[in-house]
Amino acid sequence: MPDDESSGGVASSIPPDSSISNSEQVTLSDVSPQDKPWDKHRAFADRVEGFYAGSDFHRYSDRIHYCSELLQFGIVPDVGDRSKLKLRAARFCRLRHCPVCQWRRSLMWKAKAYKVLPKVVEAHPTHRWLFLTLTQKNAPIERLRETLSEMNRAFGRLVKLKVFPAEGWLRSTEVTKGRDGNAHPHFHCLLLVPRSYFGRNYIKQSEWVALWRKSMRLDYDPVLDVQAVREGSQPMELVPELLKYCVKESDLVSDREWFLELTRQMHKMRCIATGGILKQYLKELEEEPEDLIGENATGETDEAKLCFGWKRKEKRYRMIDYQI
Ligand SMILES: [Zn+2]
Repeated sequence: MPDDESSGGVASSIPPDSSISNSEQVTLSDVSPQDKPWDKHRAFADRVEGFYAGSDFHRYSDRIHYCSELLQFGIVPDVGDRSKLKLRAARFCRLRHCPVCQWRRSLMWKAKAYKVLPKVVEAHPTHRWLFLTLTQKNAPIERLRETLSEMNRAFGRLVKLKVFPAEGWLRSTEVTKGRDGNAHPHFHCLLLVPRSYFGRNYIKQSEWVALWRKSMRLDYDPVLDVQAVREGSQPMELVPELLKYCVKESDLVSDREWFLELTRQMHKMRCIATGGILKQYLKELEEEPEDLIGENATGETDEAKLCFGWKRKEKRYRMIDYQI
């Protein structure tokens, strides 16, 4: 599975000679280097927890505190005589801006998209794919909610236009933080278009700009990017760009006031939407709660397990129990 990071056990590999004798000394990243991202994301979660402490959202601070504090992995066979870790149990806070939960959610969404998109390709072999990025001017963070609502309404108008070429679409919302502190909300869209798009129904970049401008009811030309997936290439290669984080971690932890306002502004806003043919295939992506542990989470009853606990001061997970 192409991915930018390990999915916490799914792809980890333990060499057969690894020694797990002194459990107190062993860190998760020692045992399974590919599970290193856990340390990074959990350390970001500590910072976010600190932002929420003493704010209107102090209860979120408690929830994040206990999020993924303990991780239980099963040891499962891998290729040859190697074994690998597979996450079996963990408690997640499920808050939108929790760096751990956001990471898990993104991994699970990507895994589902990698599984489902080949089926769409198979069912629509002559169709083509476009990657469309829609933006508008940056907005003060205090106006983010209003801006996103306007963009959602505009997108609804765009897909209803007669010339809109897609028979199916997947849209994700991303918000980045500009240098001036303004929010830069934008949509990444994967569009499934019939072959005729590259003939008589072709829409040039400048025409896309005009369509989005009209749908957004703007008095300026918005920045917009549209790219076609090469013929013979797969839409799966766009998945990392499409289903990345709603707000990247470095923006989450850069400024406490900005982050608290972001939480206020994005409360219950949906970040993933689907339509047309893709709706049935990818419906699960819009549904909560997502499966943040992974497939076949229970495992075999006689499976060996490893348990790791988060050590705040060290910013690492260390083994706290080892049993067979
Ligand atoms: Zn969490």
